Amino acid sequence: MSQAINQQLVERFEEFIEAYCEKEVGVLLENYPKKQRSFNIDWGELYRFDPNMADDFITYPDSVREAAKQALVNVGDLRYRTDDMLEKAHVRIYNLQELTEIREIRSKDVNTLVSVQGLIRKSTNVRPKVDVAAFECQRCATVTNVPQTRGYQEPFACGGCERQGPFEIKFDRSTFSDTQTLLIQESPEGLRGGEQPQSIEVHIEDDISGMASPGDRVVATGTLRLEQRKSGGEKLRVFDVYMEGISINSEDLEFENIEISEEDERIILELSKQKGIYQKMIGSVAPSIYGYEQEKLAIALQLFSGVTKHLPDSTRIRGNLHILLVGDPGTGKSQLLQYIRHIAPRSVYTSGRGSSSAGLTAAAVKDDFGGGQQWSLEAGALVLADKGIAAVDEIDKMRVEDRSAMHEALEQQTVSIAKAGINATLKCRCSLLGAANPKYGQYDPYESIGDQINLEPALISRFDLIFRILDEADEELDDKIATHIIKTNYIGEQSTRKKYARSGEENSIELEQVTEEVKPEIEPNLFRKYIAYAKRNCFPVMGKEAQKEIKDFYIDLRSVREVGGPIPVTARKLEALVRLAEASAKVRLSDVVEKEDATRAIELVRSSLEKVGIDPETGVFDATVIEMGKSRNQFDRVKIIRSIIEKLTGEHPKDGAPILDIIERSKESGIDDTQTEHMVKKMSESGEIYQPSAGHYKLLKGR
Ligand SMILES: [Zn+2]
Repeated sequence: MSQAINQQLVERFEEFIEAYCEKEVGVLLENYPKKQRSFNIDWGELYRFDPNMADDFITYPDSVREAAKQALVNVGDLRYRTDDMLEKAHVRIYNLQELTEIREIRSKDVNTLVSVQGLIRKSTNVRPKVDVAAFECQRCATVTNVPQTRGYQEPFACGGCERQGPFEIKFDRSTFSDTQTLLIQESPEGLRGGEQPQSIEVHIEDDISGMASPGDRVVATGTLRLEQRKSGGEKLRVFDVYMEGISINSEDLEFENIEISEEDERIILELSKQKGIYQKMIGSVAPSIYGYEQEKLAIALQLFSGVTKHLPDSTRIRGNLHILLVGDPGTGKSQLLQYIRHIAPRSVYTSGRGSSSAGLTAAAVKDDFGGGQQWSLEAGALVLADKGIAAVDEIDKMRVEDRSAMHEALEQQTVSIAKAGINATLKCRCSLLGAANPKYGQYDPYESIGDQINLEPALISRFDLIFRILDEADEELDDKIATHIIKTNYIGEQSTRKKYARSGEENSIELEQVTEEVKPEIEPNLFRKYIAYAKRNCFPVMGKEAQKEIKDFYIDLRSVREVGGPIPVTARKLEALVRLAEASAKVRLSDVVEKEDATRAIELVRSSLEKVGIDPETGVFDATVIEMGKSRNQFDRVKIIRSIIEKLTGEHPKDGAPILDIIERSKESGIDDTQTEHMVKKMSESGEIYQPSAGHYKLLKGR
């Protein structure tokens, strides 16, 4: 195409505008230039009007856009006698039929129009950029205007004296527009397992600047351009591709764009009515990991999540469930987390250490992004997981900055940043599935959870459910786990062999049988659709019986309290119960939260509390362990008994501390006989102490 505007094309565009969007010209004029400066063309409409013209827009975006702009000015002049008023309006195009994957962008795409879909990972502040610079000649004071297109250009010669300056730019006589740079990253759900997301820089101008924030899901349409890479001061042969953004459209669709056919719907409805649906859900969560049924049920409910409530006073109660898995390394915690990435759309898997400078929440960072050293706002994992699930391994290793931001992120589900002139509130309406390792390598049942993981008690209490995942020795269970692992690996071996080896058919019947045993009850694709269906269609309301059930349990919990003792459970747990019961109703696609949902929620909370909150010494429920981070007296008693045994062993170096003496001295410290006996038994079982001879105890060293 030639540089000059193609008059024929301009006329065609005039026809298009008159046929499809004449009204919009009027709207633009009404709001121009204060409220609106853009004229938006739907590419789909253009295609219906003239497919060739629409295709040309993609192949020759610069000249075609120029023609469209001229047509807009002409239509304005002709219909509204605007006298070229729209000359500075922008023609923006959106809704291209095809989306280009960021990772698929190649050199052939340069200078063409493309649409990419993704998440805004990072954005600079909105800054002024000079469009037409006014240069004053320092010799004769003539002002020469130079339109700035690529880079910063001074006049070649002065318009008055024709000498080469020197010139000085006059800000008050130059025109500026707003500009912003965004970093758009591929959506996590589009990635195949383990792939690192790729991203592209998008430069946008004027009225569309500052409209979108990090964490937003958008479709960006624009022209691809090249920028030469430099190493030191030297230009290289390699170029970077960036996008000159023409339009940014927010993709704020509820849940993902999973398509559910009528056949799918029929299967989902049928499944939801089955009696064993909850067991099926459990069997579908990370089937390659044996056991952990409570944890798996909790994760299934997390995938469905409760109902987000908007109260009349404009407060909001989150429906998302947060779950924390604490425990020994090598217990499958990480696999449970990894699984989430495979099943949940819009999920982000990361480590607390973080792979980016924005960590888990968000950060104002100063780097080269957007040209020169400047501040930009970068979204962290929870913001990127907005409306999805963030699976965060080693959450105990999160950055200091995240620790303070996490409370807001988990409860209000926003992240606020006020730093270096950046003032922003980003949304992070996601569920968090976190995993933490004990500080000292192994989980110690005698220590409170707050003492053992590097998280503040207040933060721990934001989790609806906490599970302690222990690597406990149990012969029967070990046997089952071993069988399961061997079977899973066997299937892996066989299918690898089937795929790569020349002869591999003879075992296929056997393989089918074994595969049957470890395959998920609901296959992942259907599971995903099921969840999407529930999220779209199901908003259950708490029934009378369920209300009573939850209330009774809560009051019971609160009453388990010795005089002057710790208050067991806070109201936060009550909200957790409600959320869990709602999620349970959603699994059945029920509009009412029934009694059975309340019971299921209570069982989960009870089992979670017991796993971390139970007093291992007396068997008494001591929920302060998770609510407050530390039980008032229980662990002191463990310490007292340990020191008594140590002292007595000094007095009886050969046999160790006699049990009667331990009981006697413990009594002096205010611990009664039963408690001491119980505790000695427990400590002995856990291998913390041992009996060198009957009725005598020694501390096991090296703990
Ligand atoms: Zn001059």
